Amino acid sequence: MVQRDFTLTNTNLDNETSRRYLHIITWGCQMNVYDSNRMVDLLRPLGYKVTDKAEQADVLILNTCHIRDKATEKVFSELGRLKQIKEYRNQLGNPTLIAVAGCVAQAEGNIILQRAPYVDIVLGPQTYHRLPKMILEVARQSGSIIETDFPVESKFDFLPIPQENTGYSAFLTIQEGCDKFCSFCVVPYTRGAEVSRPVQTILDEATHLCSIGVKEITLLGQNVNAYHGEGPDGNIWNLARLAEKLSTLPELSRIRYTTSHPRDMDDSLINAHRDLPALMPFLHLPVQSGSDRILKAMNRGHTADEYRKIIDKLRKARPDIALSSDFIVGHPGENLKDFEDTMQLVRDVQFSQTFSFKYSPRPGTAAAISMHQVREEEKDARLQALQALLREQQDQFNQNTVGRTIPILFVGKGRKQGQITGKSPYLQAVHIQGDTSLIGRECQVRIDKSLTNSLSGTLV
Ligand code: SAM
Ligand code: SF4
Repeated sequence: MVQRDFTLTNTNLDNETSRRYLHIITWGCQMNVYDSNRMVDLLRPLGYKVTDKAEQADVLILNTCHIRDKATEKVFSELGRLKQIKEYRNQLGNPTLIAVAGCVAQAEGNIILQRAPYVDIVLGPQTYHRLPKMILEVARQSGSIIETDFPVESKFDFLPIPQENTGYSAFLTIQEGCDKFCSFCVVPYTRGAEVSRPVQTILDEATHLCSIGVKEITLLGQNVNAYHGEGPDGNIWNLARLAEKLSTLPELSRIRYTTSHPRDMDDSLINAHRDLPALMPFLHLPVQSGSDRILKAMNRGHTADEYRKIIDKLRKARPDIALSSDFIVGHPGENLKDFEDTMQLVRDVQFSQTFSFKYSPRPGTAAAISMHQVREEEKDARLQALQALLREQQDQFNQNTVGRTIPILFVGKGRKQGQITGKSPYLQAVHIQGDTSLIGRECQVRIDKSLTNSLSGTLV
């Protein structure tokens, strides 16, 4: 057993001289990024400051993702490195604590403590509001703590409002969990049942973000468009109504939301894309497959044509809307005809950017125990063909932007001298030669060139 000589107390952390450092490694989706930022906010009052050097950190946190294969092995490999850092620091008299958070912690908490007994804290995505208390407990006692139950209280009631300006574009989680149980997915097991935050808490957080300089907010949820939070009027508000309310915040110029499910894409939300200028003309709407047979096996609850109809309505409401999606190739039972249906759907819809994955069996999910697994080489070949088509469409979309003048929200310095970088309404990265005083502002830019992963332009 690794010696635990952690002597942290509430009182000795209250002054500047007791400054401690925190290092967080985040894997996975934007919701994990949001959660990591909230963990930083939670630990700040205890005197912790973020460092990007693991060797400097008194607390090391891995915020993990369990969505695809090798997630657990990746965590153990990183833990091996952190163990060495912890031992080295301990020898120098600098007690160090390791915490594993996120969905791997939720799914494999006990295994983590068995295989890596030097881990001090294992906490799931719904219990990280208890992190400060857990750190103090580890300091007092000798032994690891595991907190992966789904608590009765909502963590959102305990999270401090974000304090530091982390940029001009921020994430805001409004909904969490999922009740849809797609055949391939671990989320309902790791994040728990679907819950929506009350409207007022979201408005308060958004208002605060605007007061510290944020211009663009991306509303987050595993099924963000299933949002159904209690409004200040006592009624249940949907995402369209929430977006409409947020669009009245004077400093907020851009609203986005992700990830949406086709089943929850109702007319009010489609019309919001027509009526709310602040709602960006970009939508990430995962379809996963273009085959009705596979969509059924996946338990997605819609057909390929129903998806096409949603896209038609969206394009009618907002003709310039850019579309993004997720695809899985090689779901159990997928044959060449099913795959060709996916290729056809891609040709029909024309996407601006996408994510595509090989099906990866996840323990405990329905598809993992299917007898009809697709061979790995077959999945590889299908993924290559699909990605070639998707890359073509992305290049075409970017090429179509060349010559246009569009508003760009500048968010930071570029990689090259004198460059600043920003985002187009269609979520393309755009850079120009320009003064850093433009960072945080939205300016008109003429797009000159489409590069591999970005666009370059000139301020007009
Ligand atoms: N809720 C969103 C939806 O229903 O579209 C998706 C959320 S999931 C966290 C993100 C993406 O990971 C999915 O859209 C899917 O494409 C991919 N994914 C999830 N489980 C997977 C698996 N077992 N194998 C491969 N890809 C997977
Ligand atoms: Fe996973 Fe399906 Fe829920 Fe999305 S809708 S989080 S893919 S179970």
